Amino acid sequence: MNDRDSELIEGMLTEKGFQIVDDAEKADIALFNTCSVRQHAEDRVIGNLQKLKSRRKKDPNFRIGILGCMAKRHGEMLFKEYPQIDIVVGPSNIYDIPDLIARSTGSEKILAVDKEKRPKKKAAGDSRSGIFSAFVNIMYGCDNFCSYCIVPYVRGREVSRPKKDIVDEVKHLVDKGFKEITLLGQNVNSYGKGLSGKVTFPHLLEAINKVKDLERIRFTTSHPKDADKALFRAIRDLDKVCEHIHLPLQSGSDKMLDLMNRKYKYGDYKEKADQLKEMVPGVGISTDLIVGFPSAKESDFKATYKAMKEVEFNSAFIFKYSPRPPAESSCLVDDVKEAVKKKRNNDLLSLQKKISHQKNRSMIGTEQEVLAEGKSRMSDKELIGRTRNNTPCVFKAGEDLIGKLVKVKIKGTSPTTLKGEIV
Ligand code: SAH
Ligand code: SF4
Repeated sequence: MNDRDSELIEGMLTEKGFQIVDDAEKADIALFNTCSVRQHAEDRVIGNLQKLKSRRKKDPNFRIGILGCMAKRHGEMLFKEYPQIDIVVGPSNIYDIPDLIARSTGSEKILAVDKEKRPKKKAAGDSRSGIFSAFVNIMYGCDNFCSYCIVPYVRGREVSRPKKDIVDEVKHLVDKGFKEITLLGQNVNSYGKGLSGKVTFPHLLEAINKVKDLERIRFTTSHPKDADKALFRAIRDLDKVCEHIHLPLQSGSDKMLDLMNRKYKYGDYKEKADQLKEMVPGVGISTDLIVGFPSAKESDFKATYKAMKEVEFNSAFIFKYSPRPPAESSCLVDDVKEAVKKKRNNDLLSLQKKISHQKNRSMIGTEQEVLAEGKSRMSDKELIGRTRNNTPCVFKAGEDLIGKLVKVKIKGTSPTTLKGEIV
């Protein structure tokens, strides 16, 4: 989501005549589009800010801006702690960035973090970092208030974009040569809330599936409480919708899920995952898990470990809990020691590695459709892309196939990457 916002910001600024440079030292203005989801992300921004402090002191024309979630989360306080900052703009004020920069004189601090919801606006200018694959926002914000999560506080309440605007954007991207789009929302399954007429996420998928010359549709993220049979049917029946779902479990312990305010039990999740696997054979399921949530005992961790084995995720992102005031769980004592968080994190990572390897092995001998994204990092003679169920796959081929859909037969695999041969 941040990457997509950065593309929009780049597009709006280049439209106004700005140029992107590859080195902050050469820039007239340095903008940080920030993430607040874990403390680690904020710490990195602070580190980068310190590096630019002396440049800002020496050069009165140089400007520094903090954009995105950290801006909304800390607001005015950023100017006090880091006087080198000139501009602070939250995610909902994104469309004002060019005007705010134009107003920045260097002596006056500019703060814009006021809007609760992101306006349904089209940015004046756009930019895309990819050539074949693009992100498309379908909604902004979140209404779920999982107890650990900062997103509803920094990105505001949920707003869905009208279906027509989204379909038009997809058509425009296809006209420009894009083959694959990834629909973005914090919880795509609640798409349509607040729009006139009854429109659901599966309806949106149906409409996008009709866009001529579009090859692939992906989406992220689905909340397990809202993922249902209608969505699974759409994945099964709509030919462009790829057979992959990112379905964050967070924990296998019902006690932790309750404290996290996730509104489902592990049993509900497992049932849905089984249903999906039955309806869509070969579907890829990826997930997010948090270790070291306040009060999580060894038994809670064991429940997550067991869930990982039972669901057999294709891949998993594992995060160490990080308190995010004012999110609700920040009132709980962060009582799981860092060393324990680290151990649980490593244990899950090594289990997942085995499961991913096993999952990949089960694809050996099958034929898979891969969108060739570019050269593999390991060899000049190989290309890399993803299968429909989102597994990376390398195969010998010339550059002329980059951007094309190819059929490959899977011959081997590592825990992360399939090896195939063009059929
Ligand atoms: N809207 C998405 C993801 C949002 S953030 C969803 O609901 O799944 C991405 C991931 O970051 C979350 O799934 C969660 O696993 C992790 N995360 C969020 N807040 C966190 C925190 N305070 N500490 C550790 N991980 C966190
Ligand atoms: Fe955060 Fe939960 Fe919303 Fe995802 S659904 S963004 S984890 S509050």
